[in-house]
This record gives sequence, structure tokens and C-alpha cells, in this order.
Amino acid sequence: MFIRTSAFILLMAALPVVLVGQQQATPADETNPLLKPWTTPFGVPPFGEIKAEHFLPAIKAGIARQREEIEAIAKNPQPPTFANTLEAMEHAGELLSTVSPVFSNMQSSNTTEQLQAINREAAPLLTALRDDIRLNPALFARVKTLWDARESLKLPPVQARLLDEQYKSFVRGGANLSPAQKERFRQINGELSSLGIKFGDNLLHDTNTFKLVIEREADLKGLPPSVVAAGADAARAAGLAGKWVYTLQAPSIWPFLQYADNRDLRKQILDAYTTRNDRGDPYDNKAIVAQQAALRAERAQLLGYASHADFVLEEHMAKTPARVYALLNQLWEPARAMAIREATDQQALIKASGGLHTLEAADWRYYQERIKQQRFALDEQALRPYFKLDNVRQGAFYVANRLYGLTVTPRPDLPTYHPEVQAFEVKESDGSHAGIFYTDYHPRPGKRVGAWSSAFRSTRMKDGRRVAPIVVNVCNFSRPAGDEPALLTLEEVGTLFHEFGHALNSLLSKNPYRGLGGFPRDFVEVPSQIMENWALEPEVLNVYARHYRTGEVIPAALVERIKKAEQFDQGFITVEYLAACVLDMDWHTLPTGPAQDTTAFENASMAKIRLPRDILPRYRSTYFNHIFGPGGGYSSGYYAYIWSEVLDQDAFEAFREKGLFDQATARAFRTILEKGGTEDPMALYKAFRGHEPSVEPLLRKRGLK
Ligand SMILES: [Zn+2]
Repeated sequence: MFIRTSAFILLMAALPVVLVGQQQATPADETNPLLKPWTTPFGVPPFGEIKAEHFLPAIKAGIARQREEIEAIAKNPQPPTFANTLEAMEHAGELLSTVSPVFSNMQSSNTTEQLQAINREAAPLLTALRDDIRLNPALFARVKTLWDARESLKLPPVQARLLDEQYKSFVRGGANLSPAQKERFRQINGELSSLGIKFGDNLLHDTNTFKLVIEREADLKGLPPSVVAAGADAARAAGLAGKWVYTLQAPSIWPFLQYADNRDLRKQILDAYTTRNDRGDPYDNKAIVAQQAALRAERAQLLGYASHADFVLEEHMAKTPARVYALLNQLWEPARAMAIREATDQQALIKASGGLHTLEAADWRYYQERIKQQRFALDEQALRPYFKLDNVRQGAFYVANRLYGLTVTPRPDLPTYHPEVQAFEVKESDGSHAGIFYTDYHPRPGKRVGAWSSAFRSTRMKDGRRVAPIVVNVCNFSRPAGDEPALLTLEEVGTLFHEFGHALNSLLSKNPYRGLGGFPRDFVEVPSQIMENWALEPEVLNVYARHYRTGEVIPAALVERIKKAEQFDQGFITVEYLAACVLDMDWHTLPTGPAQDTTAFENASMAKIRLPRDILPRYRSTYFNHIFGPGGGYSSGYYAYIWSEVLDQDAFEAFREKGLFDQATARAFRTILEKGGTEDPMALYKAFRGHEPSVEPLLRKRGLK
């Protein structure tokens, strides 16, 4: 339906690490709730007791413990075996893997200046820990001995995969480098970690600082009542009662651009958005971007790859930059042609309504909205009363129940980290516990932009038993405005289902080993994006899309119009997304060399694909958090959404063919989710579908064919 802005946060892989001579836990640690066993129900983090000052000592204690555990494995006098090396590595770092996810989740969704400062101190320690494990010669020697003997070990397939993946990750982590190269490799990792954090903190600053303050009612012309009410609420919260405030948060800026008649104000807010961290002040990210690209290229070359993208993509389904560019190119020209047709329609409307100006970026959403209303009589705002947040969430739970027999029950008794966070227990159809699910849906200043799914605890096997996951969905949805409950836009409905799809992937996983990780980046969006398809099926809408006041089910005629309008605006949406993919790939296929001029590089990259001048890439370099933010998890991977969409559209065809809730198809798809990182994703996919995915369903859905 739409391209999500979501980032799926991968938890720091709890891979063993090594340093020596760390301090032992001090007596003060006895009062630190992060260092005591958690007696909460299901072992959820005791949020009520955790204070910011507990994190750093706990992280340091976790690092020290893991170093000891790893050192013991590396120095084991016994010859290496699967049990005394790989399995032992799985169990090392237990304390850190308990503490770290709590901290990284708080840093993403509920941060403060204090937590940001702790993060700046902790991140280099964690990076060093990872490097010290990967670059530990004695440990690598044990893994390599096993890997060299892999044929004769006759390991079961999942164990053989763990051995293979661990061996590769040592090699990719620099284990084969010379001592001098190892030193430089470490330095680069340390610098990249700090640069990513700085980038993210700067972005949070510029996103939160700007406020469009409106004082005259006339300047609100065109805005629907709910958007006016949200502006009044934001003003009150900012101590500006009686005025209206619009911000760069998604639920604020996008409706403003869609509806505000005042063109100058539209330009002002969009300008503030697109010049974030590009103003030559202390929060400017241009140099940080260029340095990251240069360091990544240098690191790739050290490891023997032509570019950072070659290094990253080796682990993805796509395998090579050429295959990524091939998919992007296949979609680019039809999408661009469609966007140009959309622009022509808008220019005609400007002329017809007496305007003289040329279409610009700040006009696009405004005129598209008017054309959409003319053509489909589909007013986004008129849909929202049918999308009360609680009902939409219930709709997602309903789909999980019909597909997999899961039930989801509120657990208001569980501790949470913020009053707006809600806790649920997920159970299998036989009543057994599957996991805990938290939702955290509204923006606040300490939360990063976008939407993501993450975990406080991941699934794995311990002492022969499944450790159940604790999963969280974090979003930035429209909050209740005036006296209305939170009512979602159509796009937000898609996002809620999307992130819940990631959550299901985690909740259903039966992956026994942390060391195997999850799906590669360009498959991980399949379980999430496929869920968006159910959201708009009439059979599902009839269950959850009920008017928040009257309880009336969304009228069939309205559903019909939603369906008809599905391909509307796909030129713009696809073009701004593909442009960001190209920008990402261009930055990361750079050979090693001096840092680029960020502005010139971006301009050249966009000129090369002939990006229409009234469309901007979905993210400009200075606020492209997916690829330059903390961890940079999507670098050379932003294309993953559309790569995954090829797969999820093809997969959903199976449900279209067999039935929306066909149990055999659901069971087969569930197998993919359960296996997670334990098998090759293309093999899993073919086992489900019977053939390789076809790009046709995607082209049809987007109207590109
Ligand atoms: Zn996602």
C-alpha cells in the first residue's frame, strides 16, 4: 500500500566479546535493578525501578562479565567442540543481552539528554567489545578449526548453519586481517559508531526545535477541524495557548501540507523539514555523512570488497549492487513517467483555479489531495472516524487470530516505561504463552521519528526450553485531539499493521540461536508488509473499521473508493522512495577516497536519474537516519522495502488464490516466520510458494504496468 518509514531495529547481536582487566561490580550495584534477577511477571523489565543512572554501571558490568565468559571459552584447554565453543558463545553475554535492549529501546523511544550522554559513553565500549570478540585470535582459531572440519562433524542443519554464520561473521569482523589492519579496522568502527550517534542526536534536535506558530485564524484556512484541534493542543503543550503550532513530526507536518491553503506557510514548514541538519550550524550533518561514507568505503576495502555496498549485500538476498540497481532501474522510468503525469494534472488544476505559479515541492501534497477528492470523492479526514486507534489495533489482533489462532489480551498489571505504553500477552490457540507485546504509539520529544518494531528480549532456546520474546511496536501516530480519541489516517492504519507484522515475526520465531540472527534486511520486510494487505480487505475492515461515535461499520461505498484510489499518487510515492534508494546506493558504492562534498554528491546523484525538480528524495542525506543514524542499519539496504514488496505481493497472491484466511496457506507462511534466520530465505520462500517470486503482482499493484 505505502512505503513505510519504519526501521526494524536489530538488537545488538549478543555475540560474545572480550576485554581484560575490567573492574568487578562494585557494592553499589546491589541496589541496581538491572543487575538483579527480575521477579516481574514473564520477566519483563522492572521499568518502575529503573533509573537513568542505573544503565552505565549495568552495561559496564555486562561487558566485564561477557569478557570473562569469552576469555574462558578462548582459553579452554580442551580441543574445540560445537558445545564448548559455539554453544558456549551463545550463552556468553547473558547479562549484557538483558540490559542492552532495555537501554537501546529507551534511547530510541524515550530518550533524555542524560540518556544521550550515557549512550555516547557506552557505544564505544560496546563497539570495542564486539571488535575484541571478532578479533580475538584464540577464539577465532577454535571456530576456524571447527569450520575447517565441518564436513566430518556431521552437525544437524541448524547447528551447521550456526557454525557457518559464526565463521563468516568473524571473517567479516576482521579476523583475517593483519595486526596493523586490525588496528585501523577497530578505529574505523569506533569512529563510525560515534558519528552515527552524533547524526541521530543532531536530527532529533532539528526535528524538535522547529515550530510553525500560527496566530491568525485566517492562516488556518483549508485545514480540517481535527488538524486545527491538533494544532491548538500542540500550542497549549508549548505554552502558547490560543495559538496553533505545527511541527516536523509526521502527524503534524503532512496533514498541514495536504490541506493548508496558505502557500507561504506550506513552503515555510517544508523548508524547515528539508533543510534539517543542513544549515551550517553546530547541528549540521553534512560532514558527518561524508565521513561515514568514506570510512565505510575504507573498511570495505580493508576486508577485500570493492565497496561498502558489496560488503553489505553479500549477506542480503540481493547479493550484489548490480542486482539492486537492476530492480531500481526496472521501476524507475515507469514510476517517473507516472509522477510527471501527476504533476501535469496538478499544474492544470493550479491554472484552472486561477493560480499562476509553477508546481513546487510544497504544492504537491496539497494539489494531489484536491485531485483525489475530485476524482474519488475520497477525503482522508472523513475516513479517520472509522479508524479509531484501539479498533485498528484490535483489527490487527483479529487477523493474527484468524491466521494463526493467536489471542492477544491486555495486561495492565505489567510495568511500562511510559503512561502511554500498553502491555499485552499473546497466547497460542492451545492457551500456551507465546510472548509479551507492548505498544507505544504517539510522538513525544524523546522519541525518534518513524515507526519500528523491536524487542526487550528475543526468542531462543535455553536449557531445552523456548525463551518467550518481549516485543515492542513504537510509532508516531496522530494523538487524540480536542475531545476525540486517537483517529488514524489510512497510511497510519497501514503502519500499525506493518509493525505488528514485524512483531508477529518475533513472537512466532522458533530460532534456537541468537547467533543466527533473523532474516536478512531485504527479507525482513516481507512479514511486515504482507500484513498491510489484510488491513484493507473488506472482510477485515468490517470487523474493525467502525465509526468511533456511532459504531457504524465503514460503508461499502467508501471501501470501494479506497480500493479505487489505491494506485492514486503512486508515481510520486514510488519516485520519492526510489530516489532515496538510489542516493543510498550511490553513497555506498563509492570506492575508497577522500570525503565527498555532501551537497554536490547528492545533487549529482539525483541529476543522474533526472529526478523531477518538484519532487525531493524521501530523505535527503542530512536526515537519512536509516542509513546514517545510529548503527546505520539500512546502509545499502533502503531498497529492501521494495525488494521485500516483490516478495510480499507475490506471497499475498497465494492468499488471494486460496482464501484470505486459508489455514493450509497460513500454516505454510507461519513456517517461514518460525524458521527465521535458521534457513536460506529464498529456499523458505520457494517451499511456501512453489516457485521464485514474480515482480508482476508488485507492478500491477502500483499501477506501473
Ligand atoms: Zn518494517
